[in-house]
Amino acid sequence: MADYIPYGRQHISEVDIQAVVEVLRSDWLTQGPAVPRFEQAVAQYCGVEHALAMNSATSALHIACLALGLGQGDNLWTSPNTFVASANCGLYCGAQVDFVDIDSRTYNMSVSALEAKLIEAERQGQLPKIVIPVHFAGQSCEMKSIRTLADRYGFKIIEDASHAIGGKYLDQPIGNCRYADITIFSFHPVKIITTAEGGMALTGNAELASRMALLRSHGITRDPAQMTHEADGSWYYQQIALGYNYRMTDLQAALGESQMSRLDEFVSQRHALAAQYDKSLADMPVITPWQHPDTYSGLHLYPIRLKPEELSVSHSEVFDSLRAQGIGVNLHYIPVHTQPYYQAFGFKPGDFPEAERYYAEAISLPMYPALACEQQACVTDALLKAMQI
Ligand SMILES: *Cc1c(COP(=O)(O)O)cnc(C)c1O
Repeated sequence: MADYIPYGRQHISEVDIQAVVEVLRSDWLTQGPAVPRFEQAVAQYCGVEHALAMNSATSALHIACLALGLGQGDNLWTSPNTFVASANCGLYCGAQVDFVDIDSRTYNMSVSALEAKLIEAERQGQLPKIVIPVHFAGQSCEMKSIRTLADRYGFKIIEDASHAIGGKYLDQPIGNCRYADITIFSFHPVKIITTAEGGMALTGNAELASRMALLRSHGITRDPAQMTHEADGSWYYQQIALGYNYRMTDLQAALGESQMSRLDEFVSQRHALAAQYDKSLADMPVITPWQHPDTYSGLHLYPIRLKPEELSVSHSEVFDSLRAQGIGVNLHYIPVHTQPYYQAFGFKPGDFPEAERYYAEAISLPMYPALACEQQACVTDALLKAMQI
């Protein structure tokens, strides 16, 4: 059997390794110069004023919600077709979480479903404080329309762009916060660039940035302007909020900064792979990922959908056969509202039918920059075999 091919993996160069080693030999393993340098590199790339590195996207989502004032009695809505972290951040803050069903072509939050739900929620006095659109697989949601709804109904927008650094929306970099209050990136090894664990929150709003900076590090400030009284001395700091230790280390930031220099290369390699998949899968009983004309995807994932009516084998049989053939396919995502923890809030199968239909047919094929041509051919051969055609 050929080598195991995972669905995603990091790309680490000698230069990346040297960048981390340099930090190990330096005076600072954390809270040194590497973190602000990495933040600067991402902010500049995205064309946004403020960038705050954290130890994960999950932490960044939590702090973004807190900075926007989410608390008990508030509502947060997100997509059911996401990783659980996009929803859990609402629960961390004591808010109620609800979902908006997905679009049948992009698998992103449906704008028409969002609008319909807002009209109903306004009638019941239950409008959301925060909506978290998730740029699934790296493709931007329809942010212009979601912004229009945010202005009409008065909610804040956190873009969960964990899949999407390096992508564009209307020819502008995702993360520029033109349509969102805060954008979140993840740097987990399967994502577009990595810092091992790590995430970032970006915003164009100075006050939100300062609140997030405070919450990232225990709620402690050394800025005299933020203190309740004059400093006791030059050692002095004040805790003025209940924060966390969500900081990124300099080791991670050095890796991230080094990875940033290859970001565009990574994304174009992903596009070349996607074009090849599109071609080889064109005549198979599957639906390949559709790209909205307003978007240039980061292509974190390449999710296909089986056409069950044209197949004699089931979804899970195809999936298991691929795994048995050494292809590390995955499934993004199990609809969050069907998780036992969320069922306890009263959600049930059938609540978000488009996300559930998608889940019943989806398989994420291997997609990462170093995926070789022959390996990709192995994947499509294995898929044919798995579908028994
Ligand atoms: C990976 C991911 C997260 C969480 O990222 P971490 O950095 O692992 O905390 C959140 N949302 C989405 C959509 C993700 O894919």
